[in-house]
Amino acid sequence: MTEKPAIEGGNPVRDEFLVYGRPSMGEEEVMEVADTIRSGWLGLGPRTSEFENRFADYLGVKHAVGLNSCTAGLFLSLKILGLRPGEEVITSPMTFASTANVIEHHGGRPVFVDIDRKTLNMDPARLEGAIGDRTRGIVTVHMAGRSCEMDSILEIAERRGLFVVNDSAHAIETRYKNSSIGSLGDMSSFSFYATKTLAIGEGGMLTTSTDEWAERVRILRLHGISSDAWKRYALDAEPRYETIEPGYKLNMWDLQAAIGIHQLKRLESNLARRKELFIRYDSALRELDQVIVLDTRDDDETRHSRCIYILLLRPEALRIDRDGFISALKAENIGTGIHFRALHTHKYYRGKYGYAPGDFPEADFVSGRTLSLPLSAALTDEDSNHVMEAVRKIARYYAR
Ligand SMILES: *Cc1c(COP(=O)(O)O)cnc(C)c1O
Repeated sequence: MTEKPAIEGGNPVRDEFLVYGRPSMGEEEVMEVADTIRSGWLGLGPRTSEFENRFADYLGVKHAVGLNSCTAGLFLSLKILGLRPGEEVITSPMTFASTANVIEHHGGRPVFVDIDRKTLNMDPARLEGAIGDRTRGIVTVHMAGRSCEMDSILEIAERRGLFVVNDSAHAIETRYKNSSIGSLGDMSSFSFYATKTLAIGEGGMLTTSTDEWAERVRILRLHGISSDAWKRYALDAEPRYETIEPGYKLNMWDLQAAIGIHQLKRLESNLARRKELFIRYDSALRELDQVIVLDTRDDDETRHSRCIYILLLRPEALRIDRDGFISALKAENIGTGIHFRALHTHKYYRGKYGYAPGDFPEADFVSGRTLSLPLSAALTDEDSNHVMEAVRKIARYYAR
């Protein structure tokens, strides 16, 4: 018999709430934070430089510049590439708000290109049709950690004279034809937000192979003052500095880098653990008629970063909708996420551009069906068993 869900008065699959996006942290991070505090240098400094160098090495890119968020990196990329009011930037509607918000911040217009429901990424076949006289560039989103079709995106961009900026918030470990995402396109930005695969809590990194752009990011992130001005309180430094242009306050600082340096060392082992969890989830959930399991297999040249485990529901096979499914899982003490409700359905974008449901049918399809299961190297096998048990229980109970 089907067991009664907790939301209907049954017993939950576990007693303690399993929070979505719990980072995997160790004693090394704790010690490094303590050492940083004791060192007397809290600002942007030597630990940030060390983290930048290690991050650049990990990705195989020339420059990595530490920032306070991925959003800051996307914003500065568009500033440096000279996006002007009225110009258009092509991006995916299946993303977090900041991908399009930064285009708005420069007075630009985000132009959405519908996704492929199998990859959740912008469909390159639809890309060229969205290019017009005012198009300046493309912001790619490597959804959940799966690389976009970079060969065709880069080929189109090159032929049409467009820039390519990567929103790589999910894609630190991602490989496309043996390249890191940071090494493709003009500039890439990575996120170290609490739920990402390299978790600092807050933080970001911009990568590029262009010396001049990296230097400009270093200046713009810290008020627009000469780039090694952070050293002005150090023994060997010149206390004067020059304001070169009106910059921003978007820099990383050493307490963030202290955590980041050790999180970086865990990236590969954490990915191996998340991949195990993916395989467990996939094989257990593929048996359910009420859900769609995505194909995220790796091959020799391509690697999924396993940043988010996304499950699509089949509402036609269920008596509850996605939000009802999430509430039922919550009552079982399983936390989930939504990645994402498509941007064209959000109030601001709907209102400003008059988008209607149906304008991007593939993104709408995913938007109404998607839910993300707990996925972190910090999860035990027992935690993951609870997740699978809860999904099975809710899917079967509410099966149509
Ligand atoms: C998390 C996320 C961001 C923003 O990252 P922050 O570091 O919080 O600025 C941008 N884009 C996508 C796709 C994200 O998931």
